[in-house]
Amino acid sequence: MEDKLMRQVAIYGKGGIGKSTTTQNLTAALSAMGKRILQIGCDPKADSTRMLMGGKRQPTVLDTLREEGEVSLEDVLADGFGGILCAESGGPEPGVGCAGRGIITSIGLLENLGAYKDDLDYVFYDVLGDVVCGGFAMPIREGKTQEIYIVTSGEMMALYAANNICKVIRKFTETGGTKLGGIICNSRNVDRELDLLITFSERIGSQLIQFIPRDNIVQRAEIRKQTVIQYAPDSAQAEVYRSLARNIDSNEKFVVPDPITYDELEDFMIEFGVLE
Ligand code: ADP
Ligand code: MG
Repeated sequence: MEDKLMRQVAIYGKGGIGKSTTTQNLTAALSAMGKRILQIGCDPKADSTRMLMGGKRQPTVLDTLREEGEVSLEDVLADGFGGILCAESGGPEPGVGCAGRGIITSIGLLENLGAYKDDLDYVFYDVLGDVVCGGFAMPIREGKTQEIYIVTSGEMMALYAANNICKVIRKFTETGGTKLGGIICNSRNVDRELDLLITFSERIGSQLIQFIPRDNIVQRAEIRKQTVIQYAPDSAQAEVYRSLARNIDSNEKFVVPDPITYDELEDFMIEFGVLE
């Protein structure tokens, strides 16, 4: 029998940059390639798997734990589009407790409850990467994931967050062993954005694995509570997400990134005319 290796992949990036949109379209495309997937939302916003679930808000692991005192797999794990298993870690009540800590708790719980079934090809973690505190860094620090992809645009704050995530990967390379698989550009129509992102990716020793155009079809699909893959499978945007899926599935370039300094990042933005 062929020995199948489960790939554990984390998608990081600044809040609002498009992690959940990209991750859901990516997993939907991978499922169409016959892959078995578990997707875990690791953002207190808890909307990582919403389009895969047809708009249904799932009970989160942390809410269930708070309200019921215990959690069973049926409470928090649901079958979504393409048979993708969906879970949301959730977060603490705003202003109370630590969201990062909550992620550690909920991933641990899901593991103990047997959510990581043997037949899975992929586990995807959709992780907020603004403040990479200890909790949000956990998938990297403890080697939960072997691969990271960072979603960014050509905007300064998105690149700042991306560069910080690279620092975390580098810092925990001894203990965690997590590698960077590439940068995903979710375009915000910044001038020379493709060029900028290719150069940035190479500068940190990695690669631009996919450029995703900004397209209103994403919003139209969202209104129908669907991924683009489901809503408009023949659209150009769906083809872009399928390309991302193929590129990740066949990726062989995994590196410990070389983050740049804040000054270098600023110089870089000036070079590309984003800053003056
Ligand atoms: P995050 O998970 O990083 O917080 P989301 O995936 O929720 O971000 O994206 C924020 C919003 O941006 C979504 O509501 C979505 O409509 C929009 N969006 C994301 N990617 C694109 C895109 N490629 N084109 C157009 N809109 C997009
Ligand atoms: Mg999200």
